[in-house]
Amino acid sequence: MFFKSKPQSNDDSVKYLLDEEHIPKSWYNIAADLPEPLAPPLHPGTGQPIGPDDLAPLFPMGLILQEVSAEREIEIPDPVRDVYRLWRPSPLFRARRLEKALDTPAKIYYKYEGVSPAGSHKPNTAIAQAFFNQQEGVKKIATETGAGQWGSSMALAGTFFDIDVSVFMVKVSFNQKPYRRALMETYGASCVASPSNLTESGRKILAEDPNSPGSLGIAISEAVEVAATNDDTKYALGSVLSHVLLHQTVIGQEAIAQFDMADDYPDIVIGCAGGGSNFAGVAFPFLGQNLREGKNTRIIAVEPSACPSLTRGTYAYDFGDTVHLTPLVRMHTLGNSFIPPPLHAGGLRYHGMAPLVSHVKELGLIEAAAVHQNPCFEAGVQFARAEGIVPAPESTHAVRTAIDEALRCKEEGKSETILFNLSGHGHFDMAAYTDYFAGDLADENYDQEALDKALSELPDVAAA
Ligand SMILES: *Cc1c(COP(=O)(O)O)cnc(C)c1O
Repeated sequence: MFFKSKPQSNDDSVKYLLDEEHIPKSWYNIAADLPEPLAPPLHPGTGQPIGPDDLAPLFPMGLILQEVSAEREIEIPDPVRDVYRLWRPSPLFRARRLEKALDTPAKIYYKYEGVSPAGSHKPNTAIAQAFFNQQEGVKKIATETGAGQWGSSMALAGTFFDIDVSVFMVKVSFNQKPYRRALMETYGASCVASPSNLTESGRKILAEDPNSPGSLGIAISEAVEVAATNDDTKYALGSVLSHVLLHQTVIGQEAIAQFDMADDYPDIVIGCAGGGSNFAGVAFPFLGQNLREGKNTRIIAVEPSACPSLTRGTYAYDFGDTVHLTPLVRMHTLGNSFIPPPLHAGGLRYHGMAPLVSHVKELGLIEAAAVHQNPCFEAGVQFARAEGIVPAPESTHAVRTAIDEALRCKEEGKSETILFNLSGHGHFDMAAYTDYFAGDLADENYDQEALDKALSELPDVAAA
């Protein structure tokens, strides 16, 4: 069954809903359609390609096999679809009120992932990861979180699959966002500020800089260390890895079905990109249609100008963390020692980009853009006043670019169809909006010297 809201006038926004039976039955693995394969991850010690067994201390085999799979479709287990039913399929909206406010001939659609219990797209993978861990008898998961979105999603997933979740939260966010921590604790997880005294990695950073604000790279080191040194504990990552991007493809697959209902198809697909998972989730199913069916959709990843891995980073092998515990992966990176300037879109503050997203960018299959935070919040406010939903600071990057494309259409007199992913709501981030209204947000550029230094310290890897 399909459901389409019936607005009274052509100026009202339209909602496209699918029945639960249309929750996708499989995840879409873009590896099957790539013109060139992804470069393999390398062992941090030997520099040799790693195999599934090398990852076994950190992840359950079910997820490792997805990480290296070349199957186009990977079945979604029923217990995962059963939890997805709580909020999936998520709605697709035609943002007619926004179109009217912009006076643009473009058609603007957005897929809304803020309807999940944690308020973002992240539970799409957290639920799947908790399930595959439970299948292999895992009782505890250690993970990191930046702004708290991933930590709360993993905490939520832990409640459904009986797993103890402990979260290392980047210290600046831990102090700025007490409600995210409260949410994690409500779901039964524990949450500490990172760098912490609980790990070798944390103690090492604190010895160098007792006031370290922390970073995702540091928090990842702490969580990986806990998983690697405790037999009963695995690690979970909320973005970047191929299996995480895979789980997010429910977004784009549903959107394709909803565009069928709307009798339309996007000319442009836009997602904000931190580690790349919600972007890949909305974009890869459409990119797959470009690759297999000769469609010609433009696909744009949008990142913050303060942390521009895809537009300014080097495409090279690098560590995923600061203390060099993770495998080496080939990606667009600002260097694992680079600490991005503080930024309200904490979820976009990571030094690297998903290898799959980096790869398709390098192959020229997608575009990338970087935007400053003030214009993003301006777009977020404009969107809220037209459509009613307050976007997460991360999501405002996609909103900004969608509005800019709609304004370009107006100038060029074109009625293109634009889709963007609204990855989450901003209800836990209202302090950022308060700062924006007070004029307290800086459009910081990264420190070029610090970036050059971090890039000069990239690991020396013979091209594989
Ligand atoms: C975490 C987060 C992001 C960034 O992560 P990706 O892996 O790049 O998707 C974007 N939007 C929201 C709402 C988030 O919570």
